[in-house]
Amino acid sequence: MRDFLYYHPRSLDEARRLGAEDGALLLAGGQTLLRDMKLGRHSPTSLIDITGLLPNQIEARDGAIWIGAGATHAEVAAAPLLRQQLPVLASLVAHIGDPAVRNRGTLGGAIAANEPAGDYPAACLALGGTVHTTERDVRSDEFLAGNCRTVLKPGEIVKAVTFQLPKKAAYIKFLNPAARYAMVGVFVCIANDGKPHVAVTGARDNGAFRWTEAEKALTSHFGEESVGDIHLPLGGLIEDLFADAEYRAHLAEVLTKRAVCLALADTPQVVALSHGSRAGLEYFQHNAA
Ligand SMILES: Cc1cc2nc3c(=O)[nH]c(=O)nc-3n(C[C@H](O)[C@H](O)[C@H](O)COP(=O)(O)OP(=O)(O)OC[C@H]3O[C@@H](n4cnc5c(N)ncnc54)[C@H](O)[C@@H]3O)c2cc1C
Repeated sequence: MRDFLYYHPRSLDEARRLGAEDGALLLAGGQTLLRDMKLGRHSPTSLIDITGLLPNQIEARDGAIWIGAGATHAEVAAAPLLRQQLPVLASLVAHIGDPAVRNRGTLGGAIAANEPAGDYPAACLALGGTVHTTERDVRSDEFLAGNCRTVLKPGEIVKAVTFQLPKKAAYIKFLNPAARYAMVGVFVCIANDGKPHVAVTGARDNGAFRWTEAEKALTSHFGEESVGDIHLPLGGLIEDLFADAEYRAHLAEVLTKRAVCLALADTPQVVALSHGSRAGLEYFQHNAA
């Protein structure tokens, strides 16, 4: 790791000014950034620590849920309001990484990092999320601009994200056996206007995306049989040591069907499956019977 200057500003304005300087990077929980610095993916000349400067409240606002960008994954997972009104999101966040990651990692960092297998980007896309920054409000489908990219400008800071409340929702991810990120994750919901939304993460190089073909198929009837014959095109799918494009496409197709079943069931709303995972298999066998 190269040497860098460390600043811990006292105000968001100071953080914006320092963050806009050449070679500066904002530091929140450090769960993505410090790893990337160790791997040589980033070599900032200064780190601007924004911990303590951002809101971490979780509030119901205008029929939606507003979450401050400083909220850690552990805070979001445990929030009573969220567990009551948007349990799928609380549960999705409870399945991010491990307790150490969840106690440091923040909503703002996860959205700004926009990792290709991140869970929050899929939730944001499916739940019609709006990202509130120090400069503007941006719809999440405009904000998330491809693999580890967003439309944030230098010094611009994510302050909060608003998630729309769906009528029904579920998220299912198949874990990468080494990293425990989603090899593929599918978030399915029926939005408040009755339209189906399907967001997939972990599958494409370009990050999470709305699978419009699956959404079209679910429009006339929201049931697993509606998505029985759709296929995810192989172009642009991630191929690595763990899975080739065909495998990831197949996972996306199977998980979409299962997420639709899950959204229609009472509980649970989030399932994380790993190789040989009995809990997940038993859940689906029981419900298919
Ligand atoms: C072992 C491990 C397992 C993980 N597993 C998962 C997983 O299963 N699913 C998953 O989704 N994620 C996973 N993560 C990533 C985790 O969710 C991170 O917490 C998150 O991606 C980054 O949040 P952070 O607050 O740590 O941000 P940081 O690492 O501090 O920052 C990440 C990036 O965002 C920028 N940034 C941070 N905050 C803001 C802000 N408010 N405004 C503008 N820019 C900002 C930083 O400059 C940096 O570029 C894992 C991480 C680790 C280390």
